Amino acid sequence: MNDMSKIMYIVVPCFNEEEVLLDTNSKLITKIKELIDNKLISEVSRVLYVDDGSRDSTWDIICELHEKHEYVTGLKLSRNKGHQNALMAGLMEAKNHADMVVSMDADLQDDIDVLERFIQEYENGADIVYGVRNSRKKDSFFKRNTAIAFYKLMRMMGVELVYNHADYRLMSKRALHELEGYKEVNLFLRGIIPLIGFKTATVEYERGERLAGETKYPLRKMLQFAIEGITSCSVRPIRLIAVTGMLIALMSVVMLIHTIVGYFQGGTIDGWASMVVIMCFLGGFQIFSIGIVGEYVGKIYLEAKGRPRYAIESKKIK
Ligand code: UDP
Ligand code: MG
Repeated sequence: MNDMSKIMYIVVPCFNEEEVLLDTNSKLITKIKELIDNKLISEVSRVLYVDDGSRDSTWDIICELHEKHEYVTGLKLSRNKGHQNALMAGLMEAKNHADMVVSMDADLQDDIDVLERFIQEYENGADIVYGVRNSRKKDSFFKRNTAIAFYKLMRMMGVELVYNHADYRLMSKRALHELEGYKEVNLFLRGIIPLIGFKTATVEYERGERLAGETKYPLRKMLQFAIEGITSCSVRPIRLIAVTGMLIALMSVVMLIHTIVGYFQGGTIDGWASMVVIMCFLGGFQIFSIGIVGEYVGKIYLEAKGRPRYAIESKKIK
């Protein structure tokens, strides 16, 4: 027994991943064994699959794998709660058993051969190691461009993100304990993890294609994710509204003077077209602004209720 080496848990959220899970598992197990053999991690290191309320046989597969391999553990959420919540559930469970926890997607798009470098950065004192992809060559045209737009929008809105980093990262036990203190139910991990602090490091890797199955992030979920990211990490949209409102108010003073002068000159009926244009613009803009404020009010409502982020239905941890 090499009691110097640290315990690693690899947390993998899974939503309807029956097509890819066996393949992913054999690769992960091979990797864990290799890391143990090289004395980089302790032999009680584990993979932790979190079934996010899948409607296919994902959980059955996890249970079978748990019976067959000592390295496999599992967690089943009571229903589909979304990637971020599933990940959080896994991280919070794993931190009770591990010294360092790596999160990655079930489709193994993230290169598991950089784990050695993750561990090395951890050994050098980093509490958070970000996996950063070095290019987007293998993405579809659509995914690449929506991703670039996403980062631009986030920066404009004042959300600090690590560029080209998704949820492939290593976190120490200590960092995870700090993460636990972030109680928000509108969870956007990429936005809050940089707020934790401590020493961080980045490791570059090449991101591949999905091993099998389809993306679980259709456009609808991506948009939802972006809105979540902005509204849970920044109030800049509200501030922009306030500034725009002030500018429009100033403009309307100019309009007012113009109108009064026009009235005394006796040519008021001329202005009908511009009146309609301004009315439409203001009406639309006001409704839009109320919508943005409403988005935040809705968030406050959800946070105020403080409902649990997830419920664990069963656990397969030896
Ligand atoms: N996922 C999840 N719950 C969901 C949607 C996705 O746990 O509601 C998981 C999914 O199983 C995968 C990860 O989140 O492990 C990332 O999803 P995917 O690879 O489909 O996203 P993409 O790489 O296409 O952005
Ligand atoms: Mg993927």
